[in-house]
Amino acid sequence: MPDLAHVIREISEEMAQRSDRGTVADYIPELARVDPKNFGIAVIDAEGQAFTGGDSDTPFSIQSVSKVFTLTLALGMAGDRLWKRVGREPSGNPFNSIVQLERERGVPRNPFINAGAIAVTDLILSGHEPREALGEILRFMQFLAQDASITIDERVAASEKRTGFRNTALANYMKSFGVIDNPVDYTLGVYFHHCAIAMTCRQLATAGRFLAHNGRIPATGHSVVSAERARRINAIMLTCGHYDGSGEFAYRVGLPGKSGVGGGILAVAPGKASIAVWAPGLDAAGNSHLGRVALEQLTQRMGWSVFGA
Ligand code: GLU
Repeated sequence: MPDLAHVIREISEEMAQRSDRGTVADYIPELARVDPKNFGIAVIDAEGQAFTGGDSDTPFSIQSVSKVFTLTLALGMAGDRLWKRVGREPSGNPFNSIVQLERERGVPRNPFINAGAIAVTDLILSGHEPREALGEILRFMQFLAQDASITIDERVAASEKRTGFRNTALANYMKSFGVIDNPVDYTLGVYFHHCAIAMTCRQLATAGRFLAHNGRIPATGHSVVSAERARRINAIMLTCGHYDGSGEFAYRVGLPGKSGVGGGILAVAPGKASIAVWAPGLDAAGNSHLGRVALEQLTQRMGWSVFGA
């Protein structure tokens, strides 16, 4: 087995030097200010040992990576009832597509495209004040990452609120079909804020550990979800975690993963490791370009693909 510390060091060095860095998201103005030269990686193995490289302790906007955790929370609240509001099929469409929603009568394809994640957030919000729902999500992240210092970047949340016309359209459209229960402004407020949670690669990899270990946090033995649920969340990450780049990610990396337009990716090597990478420049599908390249190298060299060595 190759030496993981050595592999991470080599990958980090190569990523720091590459000139193909993708394009930083600018439809949320605050994200456009992030330096595309950043690159960070954190891998936490089954024993809990952390291997890190580059800017692994710099907080970044987790954006859609938060959708893995809101899905986990919503499944805990509603169980399989959740699947009445949102499907489980890859969309084959961009993350913010409206077209499919019209054809499918307001029911989003999966919980990881924007429409689906907004419907999931709405479910978490029901019966709560927006502030309470948001506190619940943030505390869940802090608990999983074992770090109470994790916060929401209010500037990013405000920036997205100011410019989130497309998400507002999606939410109103779903509301017209009865898929959204709460006032659209409340649901979107919670959604924009959980997307604006700022975390480091190290914190994110720690938070994802339960998905790599049958629903349990190995360090504490604490069960976050059942093994069956962890397996199913991983399945949705594999098939839907990278929007219309999900097939390419499975082909190249071969792990369940979820990306965000902040340039982060959480990837899960079941039984082996939880991995977070961050490189802010995105590819055409809105996924981190060098994040994907780094993960491809890591899984190939470690033989971690779920599809075989
Ligand atoms: N907050 C972003 C949006 O709704 C999340 C998109 C992403 O990270 O892919 O547009």
